[in-house]
Amino acid sequence: TRAYLDAIEQARTLNAYVLETPEIALERARGSDERIGKGEAGALEGLPLGVKDLFCTEGVRTTACSKILGDFTPPYESHVTDRMRRAGAVMLGKLNNDEFAMGSSNETSCFGAPVNPWRRTGSDAALVAGGSSGGSAAAVAARLCLGATATDTGGSIRQPAAFTGTVGIKPTYGRCSRWGIVAFASSLDQAGPIARDVRDAAILLGAMAGYDPRDSTSIDREVPDYEAAVGRSVKGLRIGIPREYRVEGMPAEIEQLWTTGAAQLKAAGAEIVDVSLPHTKYALPAYYIVAPAEASSNLARYDGVRYGRRVPGPDITAMYENTRAEGFGSEVRRRIMIGAYVLSAGYYDAYYVRAQKVRTLIRRDFETVFADGIDAILTPATPSAAFGIGEKANASPVEMYLNDVFTVTVNMAGLPGIAVPAGLSGEGLPLALQLIGRPFDEETLFATASVIE
Ligand code: GLN
Repeated sequence: TRAYLDAIEQARTLNAYVLETPEIALERARGSDERIGKGEAGALEGLPLGVKDLFCTEGVRTTACSKILGDFTPPYESHVTDRMRRAGAVMLGKLNNDEFAMGSSNETSCFGAPVNPWRRTGSDAALVAGGSSGGSAAAVAARLCLGATATDTGGSIRQPAAFTGTVGIKPTYGRCSRWGIVAFASSLDQAGPIARDVRDAAILLGAMAGYDPRDSTSIDREVPDYEAAVGRSVKGLRIGIPREYRVEGMPAEIEQLWTTGAAQLKAAGAEIVDVSLPHTKYALPAYYIVAPAEASSNLARYDGVRYGRRVPGPDITAMYENTRAEGFGSEVRRRIMIGAYVLSAGYYDAYYVRAQKVRTLIRRDFETVFADGIDAILTPATPSAAFGIGEKANASPVEMYLNDVFTVTVNMAGLPGIAVPAGLSGEGLPLALQLIGRPFDEETLFATASVIE
């Protein structure tokens, strides 16, 4: 714990942590020493970990990296971090993320962007760590924690993991409780770990997952021994390669990475099968209706009365307006406006209802493929390697949204997905592949991902 606290201090320029909690860390580490001494060690006993600032932590400032939450200090602990704490985890601090987890580069955080520890060959330009869990990914990649919690609504665990050469898994919807995690889009949000390798991710997920009656979408189902699945034989597994993911303009090196990954699985005894997910191209537009719709509803609670910051005005309406205008950043305001629009009486059927229908078609695409005996689906994790901080500042928001083209389908269908490092780009940056599994079959993802890493 002390070594990690020192490393964090040395690497503040990475802006990975938005709050360091050294006293809490050392106190918990001492508790771990005692329990280890008594032979009572938990599954995560003494492991120094970071927590995305979207998880409420009891008595510790939680901001979702939004000005509107100000110095909000929750009097309760999220279910996931509580499980980890009870398993002996040592929290080093709170990690940077996009404001309310909206973004793909972590540049919407009110604390500024975290810096990816990787550099292009021969260049000093600072690169994004991905988003929204960029702080978690940067911290793990720079060895500023052993592993970290993250959340994924449309790719926020897998994309930053891909950009930093780390492993990130978004489990099946309902596997981890959302209780005590600041809500973005409740039907898509899931917690999961970002870790150095597949085994660490399996150990962390095992401690994070589990039933919680306080989340009505949490599933009461036994948590398997994920670690036992790491390195398990993939012989005879059928791996689908969805032809619709071969998107136009895909860089040759991503194509190459994908082919190499399939060859590795084949060499390990899996069968590679060409499959079709015909509604793939509608996933991104449908996601960018469903997610903002739910966000506009979830973010209605930030009214200057119940949480954090208040900007006064002559009457209560003015107070709401001032608080929300000053408290929310521009991407969050954009999402609220899109969400309110697609939910409004005149447009509800044309946009929201239609997007929900598309969502059903996307889920059915996967169901059909899995019913045909496919065990997991292999795709690229991202359409490119990490890009420069500020590089897309003048691009249209849609260009940023295109980063999620391979990841959002998984959330729309509620499936588990893992991003695993698979090679380096021509510029020397990490690239990753994604494996998508059947509902609650994270074990097959750990088994197949460990062949590729
Ligand atoms: N980049 C996507 C978005 O901005 C996904 C974010 C996430 O998964 N939290 O909505």
